[in-house]
Amino acid sequence: MTTRRPSFPAKLPGSSPVPAKKVTATLQPRTPPVAPSGVGLDSGAVRARMVQKLAAQGVSHHKVLAALGAVERHRFVDSALAGQAYEDTSLPIGLGQTISKPSVVARMIELMLDAPLWSQADANAHSNAKAPQRVLEIGTGCGYQAAVLSQVVREVYSIERLRGLHDKARENLRHFRLANVHLLMGDGMLGYAKGAPYAAIIAAAGGEAVPQAWIDQLAVGGRIVAPMQSATGQQALVVIDKTTHGLQQSVLETVHFVPLKSGIA
Ligand code: SAH
Repeated sequence: MTTRRPSFPAKLPGSSPVPAKKVTATLQPRTPPVAPSGVGLDSGAVRARMVQKLAAQGVSHHKVLAALGAVERHRFVDSALAGQAYEDTSLPIGLGQTISKPSVVARMIELMLDAPLWSQADANAHSNAKAPQRVLEIGTGCGYQAAVLSQVVREVYSIERLRGLHDKARENLRHFRLANVHLLMGDGMLGYAKGAPYAAIIAAAGGEAVPQAWIDQLAVGGRIVAPMQSATGQQALVVIDKTTHGLQQSVLETVHFVPLKSGIA
């Protein structure tokens, strides 16, 4: 039996993000859903609660909260797991991989927006300067973070090494019609030179070092946000800024991401 889910798409591509309250208000289904799904009849309300909790935990960028309020996370997991889609937890998406926790997605995007290049863009917003252009995501998985990013940045390039997940992300994202998300199949350790330079590179899988290709493909003023394994074997979130004077690296909190692997499969 197939279960029909309520259809109330995320914001249209190209529209600028709006504060969380407004987003949740505009995403109420206009027609009654046909059949109850695992998340109940009104996923907008459940999502709004998730956003409130994230805000209470310290997520403060309105763009990020609005994006998390707009993207229907339950569409990125199996229907059997849809009831857990708005809990702050990672969930299996097949092939041994997981969808990232909403709080981790929020954290990574906030770190990206805190980079000098992005703050400048925000400051210039009144003079009609365009937001930094392209962001590269390593590890599309089910496509959730790419969809969230699409609400915050102009162009998202997202690369996945597993064909099965690349196809799944394409399927998941079809519904949202996000013209600014470009899904790529390949080894993200090589980056994606054709889209470079990137204002930011965000990795959803952690290796032992940040590949040189990412540094090369990063714009000056840009920032890499990636999980990285330390000598003790623990994984931590690392931020690398490319400045005119060289690279600046900060090691932040412990995280738990799937491993960054080379090659495709
Ligand atoms: N961004 C996803 C998280 C996916 S989990 C989300 O929104 O929830 C991380 C993904 O990174 C996995 O799908 C894994 O296959 C992928 N991955 C690991 N190493 C990779 C590489 N070298 N290139 C591209 N993708 C990679």
